[in-house]
Order: sequence, then structure tokens, then C-alpha cells
Amino acid sequence: MSDNFAQSTLNIHKEESTGDKKLPSHAKAVIIGGGVVGCSILFHLAKFGWKDVVLLERDELTSGSSWHAAGQIHTISSDPNISRLQSYTIDLYKEIEETSGHSVGLHITGGFYLASNKTWYDYLKRERSKARYMGLNQEFISPKEVAERHPLIDPKHYYAALWDDQDGDLDPSGATYAFAKSARVHGAQYFTHTPVAATTQRADGSWDVTTPRGVINAEHIVNCGGLWAREVGHMQGVNLPVQPMEHHYLITDKIDAVANHPTRLPAGIDYEANIYFRQERQGMLLGTYEPKGTPWKVGGTPWDFGHELLQPDLDRIADRLEMSFERIPAIGEAGIKDMINGPFTFGPDGNPMIGPVPGMKNYWCAVGVMAGFCQGGGVGLTMAEWMIDGEPSIDVWAMDVARFGEFATPDWGTVKSTENYERRFVMTFPNETLPKGRMQKTTALYDRLVAKGARMGQGFGLENALWFADGPEDAHEEPTFERNRSHDYVAREVKAVREAVGGIEIANFAKHEFKGAGARACLDRLLAGYVPKPGRLALTPMLTPKGKLYGDLTVACLGEEHFMLFGSGAMQEAHRRWFEKDLPEDVSYQNVSDDWHGIALSGPKSRELLQRITREDVSAEAFKFRDLRQTFVGGVPVILNRISFSGELGYEIYCKPQYLLRLAEAVEDAGADLGYRWYGARALMSMRLEKGWGVWTLDFRPDFDAVESGMDAFINWKKDFVGKAAALKARAAGASRKLVTMTIGVDGIDVSGDEAILKDGAAVGYISSGGYAHHAQASMAMGYVSAQHAAAGTRLQVEILGEMYDAEVLGAPVYDAGGAKMRA
Ligand SMILES: Cc1cc2nc3c(=O)[nH]c(=O)nc-3n(C[C@H](O)[C@H](O)[C@H](O)COP(=O)(O)OP(=O)(O)OC[C@H]3O[C@@H](n4cnc5c(N)ncnc54)[C@H](O)[C@@H]3O)c2cc1C
Repeated sequence: MSDNFAQSTLNIHKEESTGDKKLPSHAKAVIIGGGVVGCSILFHLAKFGWKDVVLLERDELTSGSSWHAAGQIHTISSDPNISRLQSYTIDLYKEIEETSGHSVGLHITGGFYLASNKTWYDYLKRERSKARYMGLNQEFISPKEVAERHPLIDPKHYYAALWDDQDGDLDPSGATYAFAKSARVHGAQYFTHTPVAATTQRADGSWDVTTPRGVINAEHIVNCGGLWAREVGHMQGVNLPVQPMEHHYLITDKIDAVANHPTRLPAGIDYEANIYFRQERQGMLLGTYEPKGTPWKVGGTPWDFGHELLQPDLDRIADRLEMSFERIPAIGEAGIKDMINGPFTFGPDGNPMIGPVPGMKNYWCAVGVMAGFCQGGGVGLTMAEWMIDGEPSIDVWAMDVARFGEFATPDWGTVKSTENYERRFVMTFPNETLPKGRMQKTTALYDRLVAKGARMGQGFGLENALWFADGPEDAHEEPTFERNRSHDYVAREVKAVREAVGGIEIANFAKHEFKGAGARACLDRLLAGYVPKPGRLALTPMLTPKGKLYGDLTVACLGEEHFMLFGSGAMQEAHRRWFEKDLPEDVSYQNVSDDWHGIALSGPKSRELLQRITREDVSAEAFKFRDLRQTFVGGVPVILNRISFSGELGYEIYCKPQYLLRLAEAVEDAGADLGYRWYGARALMSMRLEKGWGVWTLDFRPDFDAVESGMDAFINWKKDFVGKAAALKARAAGASRKLVTMTIGVDGIDVSGDEAILKDGAAVGYISSGGYAHHAQASMAMGYVSAQHAAAGTRLQVEILGEMYDAEVLGAPVYDAGGAKMRA
């Protein structure tokens, strides 16, 4: 049986030195950094057909954080697609061991996630539900069974445990080398002791990668700098909001109960104690994420940092150790053989940041991978698909570098990455808004709305109102899986919109501007739906070449050569990257999201309100559904769209940020006697459910095609567009799964996403979004189910916190099915 820690730390592989070998002058791709992530990408690129790929490593392979990792591997993740990729990663280790002939020291022991209170038990029930439809092998076991499988654990501290067959541990250094050597078997090359000093882009878009041993001209470069990701980014002016954090684990002396145990002990995570543990030789390894994280080298990682560890500081983890010694007493009783404090890199939300960097050509990154041995294989797979095929095979939004934009400055990155480190094993509830890095971006209405009782959330760095309490002191809520005190306040907002008129800030919608002689032709190609004539709006899906959804957009034609696209705020940089990729010369494009703020008015009295503050004739006859005007409202210049996401008569009023306060005052004054009320994102989400309208990143995402999601209804099949061939094929084949809207027979709690949908006890789909529909007074959800269960009236079950509830598939929206109110 191998000793993974000793193998990694004391026996760094030196035999691979490529000191004398000549660098090639050209390569299809150069990967900068030979940690587990870079080596996995090298392997996958070569395996999938790019042989002409080169990895450059400053020192020996593993010289960043990879050599001193604890080597624990597991599949659990907050994002189901990341879980899938973690499962793929673990399965891959056997293959690279065989291909390379290099041991990865793999032990698949199985592992448990221990719940020491009901809340953690509830959390694990949610994980179990996800695993059910993902086909992952996870089951609950009792504390007694935990102790049977791991006699060192004192079962009295636990409620239950979720068991996962696939978990275990490996030798981090061995795994990294196995990736590199397997890559070589597939035709790739890697060079150690070859630091990249500069990356310079040529006019043709290719890159000159400068090292002391020569220059390689490469079509693509990939920043896999790990601890130096920031520094490698800076070579090209790329700011990556990642931060290395100090991290401790300890290794005990021999423990007789471990040595004498007939099999290797399972790995484990105890959330409340905030520890992970596994067997290491005849002792135990135990690591913890301390409650106050210590960012390492905030100003930059020194280039001369090598195979070094940091000074351990036991005081920082004393509380955590005390708790863990109560729960696994044998660890407390054993002597400590080694105490490790090593740095590794975190991102602002704890997930990796991978993919093409927006605003750059052929510049890729795979950084902030904080669980490289759980995720490295999946990151390599995804990057190779993306680079070779142009798009990953599954939606990797949770890892896409484009989910951060300009707002994610280095300072913000350090604050959020530290918060994420501290919360690594801390529960985040579905309705929870995290406290750090707030007010990074605000609009002119921030103070005004907070004074009115807004409970704020944050999206793409921008603060936005979630719901309105009765004043600032009242604007609080408990993080919970159940409905909380915001429920009644949201009901009040929905009532105002459905019966009178409400307003919501819409600064957080993305806005993309296209101008030029070729703009219409360009959009006709990019968008699958109709591109409207001047003065009109259209809804359209956008597809990838493989026919997957890549956008759900509203197109506004402001003039024959002037268009504005409105879409998901979170996707704005991803869409910018998409639009800029092959932009024709006669089209200019800009992401103008921050240049246009605004207010959406909704409700039966919204026309009356609007007419009071504009000279434009907004009567039903003069200003029809999906019309737009560039005009004046509330005395300020605006783009006025007649459209709404609440299902009511409604208008989106966009103005330049400097006019927003004036517009808001005009709206409030004119609406006072009409029952005007501000409303927040939760009310909007509730109302759109009643209409059965999906939302980007939840119901609409690149995991699905237009037919599955029902977005095919908006496709203009008469024209050519990106993804048409694939979409036609999908249409001819018929969807094997469909997006449906359901009512659920449940009270006091609603779905929050990712719950399993079952038919006769078997998983047939999953929930993509849901909540409480306040006007319909029903718990509702949207989700993808196998096509044979998608018919209206089908009775299904939805698992919420381990309980099964009856659900019924709807055939039509529960509110204003014909859309008469919206078109009134
Ligand atoms: C104490 C500790 C315990 C951990 N435990 C686990 C665990 O149990 N399970 C798990 O999955 N993960 C664990 N991790 C995290 C894991 O180590 C990281 O996720 C992983 O190492 C990240 O790999 P990487 O390739 O992104 O970065 P790194 O390993 O940092 O690799 C980056 C490489 O790039 C090279 N480089 C940088 N700049 C240049 C340049 N200009 N030119 C050439 N080369 C360059 C560096 O020399 C380095 O080798 C742990 C980490 C620590 C510190």
C-alpha cells in the first residue's frame, strides 16, 4: 500500500527533466504550468487529436500546489455538472495509470459526508436527490454503520451520513506525472525548467511564448499557472480574481486501530467540525478550513517560491482540531508526525475559472482550481472539447471564466476568495446572500431602495433588490431551506403588480449594441429567431453550432443599422465573447450593459402611470405589444419597450445611469395614487413561474436544445442561422426530454433547484427552477423530464429534503394562459 503523502512530498520526481531537449518553434497550443491541471489539459488535447501541443513548466512538474495536496478525492459539488466531471476525473485515474505505466496511488475506499445536526442532514438529502438523477451511487447510512466502516469515529455525534462509493485518495504527484506521461504517449511534449517570461500576441492572433530556452509561436496559449495564475495573466494584462490561501492538514503517527484494520479506512468529511480526513499509511490525515482564512501573497506570488511549505500555525485551527478530536478520538490521542501548511488557489465562488478569456483571442485559462485532484480530469476534458470542438459537451457555466467581469478586480477577488475558503464546508442556503464583496457595483437607486426596505442581492457584481420589507430595520431574513419571512412581503409585491402597478430596477439585464451596415445580416446569422424591423422587438433563442441553447434574448431594432439585444446579466461577458468571436468588419459591437439602467413597470395600471409621465401616445392602439420607441419618459431620454416578464401589461424603460434617479422620482410621484409599489427579483421570479417562462442559467442553458426547452417556437426556420443543421436534426429526431411546468402538492417549503423528479420511484428528470406562485397560491416548478412523462396531466413526484411530493405537469400557464393581459 502506498504512502501518498510521503510519495508526493519526499520523493519528487526528477527523472523527467528535459534540460537538453530543444524547444519546438511552433505549436498548436502552449500550456503554461505543469501542475495537475495543465498536465490534464495536455493529456486531453493530445488524446483527442491535437498532437502538436507543448506544456512548459518553470521548475519540475507539480511545483506549485500540486505536490503538497492531501490527495483526497470525492464527487460531491454544489453544481451537478461539476459533480459529473468529478466522477469522470476519478474514473480516469485507472486509464492514465495504464497508459503511462506510472502509479497514481489510487485507493477507492468509499467515503462519507457526516451530518451532525438536522440542517446538515437536510443538506445531504438534497445532495442525495441530485445524485439520484445523475446516476451517482450515493446512499444514507446510520451512525452505527459509520462506526462499523470506520471504527475510529465516535457515532454519537452524528445524525446520519451520506455514503459515496467513488471517494478515496491518491498520490497527487503520481497523478500529475501520470497525466503528463500519458500525454506524451498520445504525442504531446512537456518541458520542465522552462519558465515562461512573456506572452506576446502577433497581428495574426497567434502567440509568441518567450522562455530562456527560446520562443515558441503558438496558435493558442493556456494559463494554468496555479499559484502564479495572476502573474501569468498580468503578462498580457489579464486580471484573474484568484487568491492563494494558506491551508493546514496534519498526519498522525501510527494508530494501532488503523494498522490492524483489515481494509483501508474510508475517507470522510464532517461539515460542522469543518474537517476532512482519510487514512495515511498506518495513521490518519486530517485537514481543516479555518474560520478565518489567511490569504497568501496578496501582492503576488514570488517567482522563486519552489517546493516549499509555510510555517504551520496551530492556534488558527485549534478550535477545529478540538472538535475533531472529540469526534475521532484516536486522532487526538495519536502523536502528530507532520503538520503541513501549504498555499493553493481559490476563486471568488470556489469553482474553477476556465475557458477563453473574454476580450482576448486564443487566450485560455484554467485557474482557481481548488480541488485539482477531484476536478483536474474534468477540467482537462472540458478545455480540450472547447478548444478542439469549439464548445464543451455539457454546460460548464459554473466554471466559465466569463461568469466574472470587470467588477472582479484583484481586491474583490481576494475578499471573495477568502470568504469562499472560510465557507468551504459551511452551508449556503438557497435564499442566502453572502456578505463579502458587497456594494461593488450600485446604481443611483441603491440608497433610495434600501431606505424603502429593500433586501439586496448581488448579481454580476451589481446590487439589486430581492424583496421589500417595511423599512431598513425590517429588511432581514433567516437563511433556510423552508419559506422564510420574506414570503408575505413578496406576496404583497405580486398583488400590487397583478392588481395595480409595480416597478422593478432593470440595470441588471445585459444590453448588447450592434451597429453598422452588416448588423442585420450578422444578427440574422447569430440568432435563430426573427430579427425585427425598426421600432419592433422580437424574442429569440441563440444556438451553438451543435444546436445547444446559448442565449434567450430580446432583440430591439432601433434603426435599420442599429440594434440592441437584452439578455441575461450574468451571461453578459460570455455573450460578449460569443459576439466578438467572428464579428464581420461592417459591424461594430459593444457590451453596453452598464450604460443603460432603468425601471420595468408592470400591472394593469402601468399604461395609465406611463401616460402621465410621457408625451408619447402609449395607448393600446398607438403603442402595441413588442413596439419600442426612443422617446422621453419622466423628462429623461429613454428607450421604451412594450414588453414584460411578469405576464402583465408592462413596459421596460431604459435610460442612461445619470437619469435613473429622476426617472424613479417621476414614476413614484405619478404612481402614488395608482397603488404603485417597488418590487424585487423574487416577486418577478414568482410571476414568471405562473406564466411558465424559463430563466437563463436555470431552465435555459447549453445542456439543452431548442426543441427540449420549447424555444423552438421562436425559431425562424426559413433562414440560415448558427446551429440550424443541428436544430433541424434534433427536431426530426424528437426530444427525448422536455421542459415542463408543474404544480407541487407541498406546503411551507418549495423546490430550490436540482431536486429529482420521479415516476413510480425511478428518477425521470430534475427541477431546473421553482418556488411559490403567489397569485396562483401554489408551489410550482419547472424541470426537464423524459418526453414520455411530459404530457399535461402527468402525475409525478418531486423529492424535497428527502420527502416525496405529488406533482402534476401543466398544459398551459396558470395565469392568463392566452396572454390577453400582456397584450391588452
Ligand atoms: C495543503 C493542501 C491540501 C490539498 N488537498 C487537496 C485534496 O485533498 N484534494 C484535491 O483535489 N485538492 C487538494 N488541494 C488542492 C490542489 O493541490 C490544487 O487544486 C491543485 O494543485 C491545483 O493545480 P494547478 O495545476 O492548477 O496549480 P499548481 O499545482 O499551482 O501548478 C501550477 C504550475 O504552473 C507552473 N508555472 C507558473 N508560472 C509559470 C510560468 N511562468 N512558466 C512555466 N510554468 C509556470 C508552476 O511552477 C506550477 O508547477 C490541496 C492543496 C493544498 C495546498
